[in-house]
Amino acid sequence: MSRPRLFVPCPLAADRAIRLSEAQAHYLANVLRRKLGDWVQLFNGEDGEWQARITALSRRGGEVVALARTRAQAMEEGPILLAPVLRRDTTEWMVEKATELGAAAILLTTTARSAVTRTNPTRLAAIATEAAEQCGRLTVPRIDPPQPLDRRLADWPEALPLVVCDETGASPPLASVLAGLPPAARPPAVLVGPEGGFEPGELDRLRDLPFSLPASLGSRILRAETAALTSLALVQALTRDWCGPQVPSLSVPT
Ligand code: SAM
Repeated sequence: MSRPRLFVPCPLAADRAIRLSEAQAHYLANVLRRKLGDWVQLFNGEDGEWQARITALSRRGGEVVALARTRAQAMEEGPILLAPVLRRDTTEWMVEKATELGAAAILLTTTARSAVTRTNPTRLAAIATEAAEQCGRLTVPRIDPPQPLDRRLADWPEALPLVVCDETGASPPLASVLAGLPPAARPPAVLVGPEGGFEPGELDRLRDLPFSLPASLGSRILRAETAALTSLALVQALTRDWCGPQVPSLSVPT
């Protein structure tokens, strides 16, 4: 029987009892049919992954006791995604998939042609948490509510390259842009435009920024969410994430 993974927003240590929310208790008891004494896995973004046993389950919540750490905390320094704000369901899908692909943070960003400028931060945080639980990450990416591009770039760290996904065909392919980067501690961030694309003047200003790396994803015009996930996957595959050592599992109690 697979062990459910839960994110818990509290410190994890041996023999520590951790309270579960109503939703987590409902999920364990009624969706997964878990009982007292069953195992779960816990993570909190800081203390690695822990095996824990269920010690209480009720309609009002539950409790688990952490017993042994099975994975040490890893840095998980994935790319930061400056993501367009799209229709609600599309934004939610993009946040889920970007979490699975290892985005370190998803900074929702509006540009001149953004048709949607609002999101539901609580729901997006819940979607990112569920995706992190499902895919085995040890961290949940921060989802930043929408902000205009100018504000995002106002104090951008010059040492962090920003891949600008440029659909005009005027930029070199992303794979060759990434191949030209020196080895670095962290991967470049990625910026994708909204459904209507970037305005020409906006793109010119972006190209002039000292940290920007304009790049093409091929000759076809991709939907914004496809471009976001494709560029994340390429950055992950061609920089360190998919090539580096996996975080080793420690011994698992039975
Ligand atoms: N307005 C554009 C058009 O109709 O020609 C389409 C914009 S596209 C749906 C949304 C965003 O996805 C673009 O601003 C760009 O950031 C990214 N994108 C889509 N296709 C791309 C490609 N082939 N290369 C690079 N970026 C792309």
